[in-house]
Amino acid sequence: MVPQERKLLTEIPGPRSQELLERRTSAVARGVSVMLPVFVTAAGGGILVDVDGNQLIDLGAGIAVTNVGNANPAVAAAVAAQAEAFTHTCFMVTPYEGYVAVCEALNRLTPGDFEKRSALFNSGAEAVENAVKIARAYTRRSAVVVFDHGYHGRTNLTMALTAKNMPYKNSFGPFAPEVYRLPTSYPYRDEAAGLDASGPAAAERALSILDKQVGAENVAALIIEPIQGEGGFVEPAPGFLGALAEYCRANGIVFVADEIQTGFGRTGTLFACEAEGIVPDLVTTAKGIAGGMPLAGVTGRAEIMDAAHVGGLGGTYGGNPVACAAALAAIDTIESDDLAGKARRIEEIVRPVLDGLAERYDWVGNVRGRGAMLAVEIVEPGMMTPAPQLTGAVNQACHQRGLVTLSCGTYGNVLRFLPPLVIGEDLLKEAFTLVTEAFDEVAANLPRAEKAPAPSPDTD
Ligand SMILES: *Cc1c(COP(=O)(O)O)cnc(C)c1O
Repeated sequence: MVPQERKLLTEIPGPRSQELLERRTSAVARGVSVMLPVFVTAAGGGILVDVDGNQLIDLGAGIAVTNVGNANPAVAAAVAAQAEAFTHTCFMVTPYEGYVAVCEALNRLTPGDFEKRSALFNSGAEAVENAVKIARAYTRRSAVVVFDHGYHGRTNLTMALTAKNMPYKNSFGPFAPEVYRLPTSYPYRDEAAGLDASGPAAAERALSILDKQVGAENVAALIIEPIQGEGGFVEPAPGFLGALAEYCRANGIVFVADEIQTGFGRTGTLFACEAEGIVPDLVTTAKGIAGGMPLAGVTGRAEIMDAAHVGGLGGTYGGNPVACAAALAAIDTIESDDLAGKARRIEEIVRPVLDGLAERYDWVGNVRGRGAMLAVEIVEPGMMTPAPQLTGAVNQACHQRGLVTLSCGTYGNVLRFLPPLVIGEDLLKEAFTLVTEAFDEVAANLPRAEKAPAPSPDTD
């Protein structure tokens, strides 16, 4: 494995990365963006090595993918062995055991102890699309309900399901019909808006819109991320998900938990739904499933999954044997090394640091998330107005210190932390000392950085 230490030999990005960035600009379509243009040559544990020899601390895990660490030795060995044996047959032409074994693992590990089935795909968006196909086939209904700040992918149907226009949807329409968006539970902003921020009250607001504008009997599926990812790590108030699940059960709606970002130990339980005892009808998975190889799944109640006719689901590469081998090794590592427990330990170390920043700076508005999926929402000093530029400044100050950090959020004002679950504690602590430094540096350049007395809430 690469040495587990931070090392900065050049500016970030260094000269060789700059050269590659120029080649990238002339060769790669502009629409594919880049958060931090260091070109990587190796990675492992909590470290990324770049072409200039810098070693950066990874607080992004390739967007919650390398939960078991990059180039995890067990994953790499499984990939190599499978690639030597065979790389592809198409599971729909001549099947192989790895696909079946991944489905068995998903059926065993996802919430709910009923009979389950799974199907495998290449990307998260594809999994979500297939969950919709399956729910429509099962219910013979067409409407799909999603939520503000939700993110479900970039294909045509999943663009329609995704809330945010820029950059995901702008100029790419028309979008798939019969998609309805409801307000979600966003405790920090619900409270500020003078709403009852409790989970049941937020669910009541959403469901009354569903009743009036869509009609439960028209709804095939309700799709929700138990903690929102790209939309800003918005964690609903307790009771919100449960009330939605209950409504779905009462109205024959397929409740789909999109656990693509939250799954595989990320939030301190194997799946985020478990924290509140929520049992979805279908679960979509991807990102953390296969240690970096492209793989995705839909798992759920056998009678729903089996509603799609023979030949209705699939794809040339879905459940590719190399990706399945990687998944089996990654899942085995997640279970036997208790990576969900590691995620809880990461929260124990990181959250006090983030809480301290919120205490110190009135532009750190909210700290939230669970396990190794934590974020701060950054606002204009003393206000609740989203501050995307300030967020960008902190993000850049982190990058300059050799940290790979990511921003997200509908307003681009959330700094999120998604370290690999295997990151060493010393490296993690060093990283968050540097995160603190980055906040301090940005604070020092603000006209007014000290905590102002809170403005009295405007109650009417
Ligand atoms: C990333 C993500 C997707 C899309 O996955 P891709 O593999 O990028 O298509 C869908 N839903 C959630 C919650 C995600 O985080």
